[in-house]
Amino acid sequence: MEKKSFEPPVIKRLHSGMPGKTGLPGRMEPITHIDHLSVNTLLRDFGSPLFVLSEKTIRETFRKAIDAFQSRYPKVQFAWSYKTNYLDAICRIFHQEGAWAEVVSGFEYQKAIRNGIGGRQIIFNGPDKSEQDLITAINNHSCIHIDHFDELYTLIRLANQTSSKPRVAIRVNMDTGIFPKWDRFGFNYENGEALEAIRKIVESGKCDLVGLHTHIGTYITSTSAYRIAAEKLCDFALAIEGEFHQRILYIDMGGGFASMNNLKGAYHSAADTTPGFGQYAEAITGAINRAGFDPDKLPVLILETGRALIDDAGFLAGTVLATKRLMDGRKAMILDFGVNLLFTAFWYDHSIHPAQEMTDSTEDTVVYGPLCMNIDMLRDQMQLPLLKKDDQVVVPRVGAYNMTQWLQFITLRPNVVLIALDGKPHLIRKAETLEYLIQNELTPDHLSV
Ligand SMILES: *Cc1c(COP(=O)(O)O)cnc(C)c1O
Repeated sequence: MEKKSFEPPVIKRLHSGMPGKTGLPGRMEPITHIDHLSVNTLLRDFGSPLFVLSEKTIRETFRKAIDAFQSRYPKVQFAWSYKTNYLDAICRIFHQEGAWAEVVSGFEYQKAIRNGIGGRQIIFNGPDKSEQDLITAINNHSCIHIDHFDELYTLIRLANQTSSKPRVAIRVNMDTGIFPKWDRFGFNYENGEALEAIRKIVESGKCDLVGLHTHIGTYITSTSAYRIAAEKLCDFALAIEGEFHQRILYIDMGGGFASMNNLKGAYHSAADTTPGFGQYAEAITGAINRAGFDPDKLPVLILETGRALIDDAGFLAGTVLATKRLMDGRKAMILDFGVNLLFTAFWYDHSIHPAQEMTDSTEDTVVYGPLCMNIDMLRDQMQLPLLKKDDQVVVPRVGAYNMTQWLQFITLRPNVVLIALDGKPHLIRKAETLEYLIQNELTPDHLSV
């Protein structure tokens, strides 16, 4: 048999218009309505661009998630991740559904209190808690999740001045078989650092050790990573009970479940790779159920799911400002929103849909935002219907992180509307104005005009 000659492997870019190994690219179906309200009418009434959130979708998604866990484990508590979307109206929907608050800064902590959440129902995470933040959290009996030894020493010192004992957990990082490993937050499990932190807490006698926490990453599509993380936290909890006679009241598995957005450069679409709540729940509760806890003293399972609970409920609607031809002949489209409002465009290939019926013709299109800045590109290439100036578009699945990470850069942030269960739109954040923007600016006298 003749030996075949060697051909070096090549990496070829998939062309979005052609069938690839994973099938035909999806057509961008029009999204003309959100919860029965016409997108065109919403844009006329509230201006363009516009964020739209669906209360119905938020509640339905939350109930799916809680059902998935509660049907498999008797003690489940969700805590809403404020940084994912901390508009008060959104937080209050989650609180009405029974979620506690999970915050990572003093400002988020205050927002949770203002939203009517009791101190005991606030989980305080993150590496940046000021002494004043810690004192407030101690006095309110919140769950303080210690991130590093410096914070641990500060807490022990503060505990001498406060009337109540801090209720604490430690954040644990660990190898769960995924890359990258998040070892910058918390104490490492494998090298004994986490055990050392627990020893210091117990021996100080100054804090009430109440739980263990981990947050293994974000957009994690591997359920086995959660299984491993839960196994390790349970083993750790039982070891602590054995060694220090200290019962761990809760295991907090953090957030990180993937949403249905497609990661940039991902070969498969999220529809094929993102597990459902049931699959995540099976992995986590299976591990806890097998761990060997006394059935009468099961720890509470806390979840801090962010992205997967809110992404689907958010839409960004806007308008085509212009179309043009690039030098290489490609079609380009400029929208009235860009990476300033769609921060997640840096790592998702967001789908962009026309907001009105279109013909079947499509063309490869580069999609830019309105900023006078080269970074402002939403898609470097996608098949889009033949949109023209003043046509309107909708980007679905933008509820997570965009309304907290949005940039006030060159343009002002637009209105945010919540469509309530009765189908009526409510303004939940007013568009920013020049006055809003300059209210904190000061000009020295010699620059007065
Ligand atoms: C950001 C964050 C979450 C939410 O993460 P998602 O990936 O959005 O689910 C939960 N817990 C902590 C500690 C976080 O920092």
